[in-house]
Amino acid sequence: MSKEAGKSQSQTSSTEAVNEQPELSTRQPAGSTLLPGSTIGILGGGQLGRMMANAGSAMGYRFIALDPTPDAPTGQVAEQIVAAYDNREAARELAERSDVITYEFENVDADVAAMLMNESYVPQGSELLYTTQHRLREKRAIEAAGVRVAPYSEIRSVEELHEAVARFGTPCVLKTAMGGYDGKGQWVIRSKDEIPEAYETLARAGVQLVLEQFIRFEKELSIIAARSPQGEIKVFPVAENIHVDNILHLSIVPARISENVQREAEQLAKQITEGLGVVGLIAVELFYTADGELFVNELAPRPHNSGHYTMEACRTSQFEQHIRAICNLPLGDTTLMSPVVMVNVLGQHVEPLLALLARRDETAERLKVAPKVHLYGKKDAVHKRKMGHVNVLAPDIDAALSWIKETTIWKV
Ligand code: AMP
Repeated sequence: MSKEAGKSQSQTSSTEAVNEQPELSTRQPAGSTLLPGSTIGILGGGQLGRMMANAGSAMGYRFIALDPTPDAPTGQVAEQIVAAYDNREAARELAERSDVITYEFENVDADVAAMLMNESYVPQGSELLYTTQHRLREKRAIEAAGVRVAPYSEIRSVEELHEAVARFGTPCVLKTAMGGYDGKGQWVIRSKDEIPEAYETLARAGVQLVLEQFIRFEKELSIIAARSPQGEIKVFPVAENIHVDNILHLSIVPARISENVQREAEQLAKQITEGLGVVGLIAVELFYTADGELFVNELAPRPHNSGHYTMEACRTSQFEQHIRAICNLPLGDTTLMSPVVMVNVLGQHVEPLLALLARRDETAERLKVAPKVHLYGKKDAVHKRKMGHVNVLAPDIDAALSWIKETTIWKV
């Protein structure tokens, strides 16, 4: 336990909840409640950690992040240990200075994860990480929870790829089982002539491959659920997501789907959350087909870009919910308070957005929308790099979409 948190615990020990708590040791018993004043260590110092720290600081928690980049987005709002993610000494220091450890990305080094599991309190456990780090393990776990994924096949050789492409037909999608994101590490095979090149290119990563049937989806949706160590589960409203060049562009909430689909998505998110024994947040990305079927694409055991809309639009943000879950507090109300469209701010959008921010926004006034700007403090506004997002609160979705169009910032 950190000295700081120890002080805070004893200072607040007049409250009933604290009196019931045994003295916190470095390794908390499963299901311990961590009250404000405790220190939360975050593996990773990007924007997700920053927004977690902002939400948790407002509640009175302290934060320390481990990230190799000095003055990382989280380091600007919390303490930071500047070191590589796989630096065991640095991870040990993070553990020593924190009462609880969480992470903001799933590709945590296995050695570091094991060490943290042994030497500190990681309520999310290592199994969820192990499962979601690998597409095949993840798909099997989703299926075991009784939920559908796109038909897939493990690929161990170019011959197996030929066979699987013949079975699924083209197009189909070849993916690396580990390490891909924002469409990286995948190849849409449009004809069987592409098989040798697709295989050779992706096999270079040296990880297992998986072939998926191409789902002709009508919409991409996502739903975020939270579970506390006690087993309380809350789900957020479904988001309808629009990608451009494989990068999330818009999340529209409420999603333009029927009540039934909303209910079905909630149900499958709960099944996955229970089936995988999630603690903290789990984001479930879905394909919705014209036939009304839902398939899970992938999972993320952390706050998700498509959940940023919750920051102003829901009674509890995904970041506050994550903190509540890992600290074993009762989960917050996830009710949507306003229609909202979240639009991502990439490197090329920063300059025009800042120019708009500095002047009176007559378009917003006319459309009666409130664009809430979030920037992550990243220095280099590189093309396509995620620099921030805007949550456009609006009387209806069309007004929010009109604002995004009329500003001309997102000419895509
Ligand atoms: P992923 O990295 O798995 O999230 O994939 C990135 C994007 O590729 C998704 O958001 C989809 O737009 C598309 N995609 C991935 N897998 C499939 C699939 N099996 N069928 C159709 N589109 C897919």
